Amino acid sequence: SPPLVAIIGRPNVGKSTLFNKILGMKTAIVDDVPGVTRDRNYADATYRGRAFRLVDTGGLEPSASDGMLALIRRQSELAIAEADILIVLMDGRSGLTPPDYEVVKLLRGIAKPVFFAVNKIDTPKADPLVADFYRLGTDKLYPLSAEHGIGVAELLDALYPLL
Ligand code: GDP
Ligand code: MG
Repeated sequence: SPPLVAIIGRPNVGKSTLFNKILGMKTAIVDDVPGVTRDRNYADATYRGRAFRLVDTGGLEPSASDGMLALIRRQSELAIAEADILIVLMDGRSGLTPPDYEVVKLLRGIAKPVFFAVNKIDTPKADPLVADFYRLGTDKLYPLSAEHGIGVAELLDALYPLL
């Protein structure tokens, strides 16, 4: 079966927007409100003739006893367990936040390919916003604008050999 590519990251970084952009159609629900109830979205996709499945992990509902960090942890753990390839999406406009570190912490020791992407880099002027994310210690970052479709092909090109 085709590899499963999961987009993980804290709420509001643009996971659903990227999911939609990759699919080229509006199938996931994009919402400004973090942690609203949504279903996990799976879709079949192809890139340059290779098939993969894409999952947008934004859909778990926080329970009253669960904080946002616990929710992100649970969603990410599920995705990490089931996915073959992971895209960690972060928000260039807000810089690195504690929940981003939480997601990265969960990935330690995971023997699966992980791609770190910085979203909301809408214009060349926003490029310097990416620098902050090198504090994560990753050698490669993928700046992109899910909304405008900038940098998405570069990310998919990097994934392509694994599909
Ligand atoms: P999710 O919670 O991670 O699924 O994030 P969403 O896809 O729902 O997006 C959260 C907010 O960020 C929405 O208001 C989007 O319109 C906005 N957004 C997503 N991608 C971009 C982008 O590339 N640039 C900008 N400026 N905003 C974006
Ligand atoms: Mg979402």
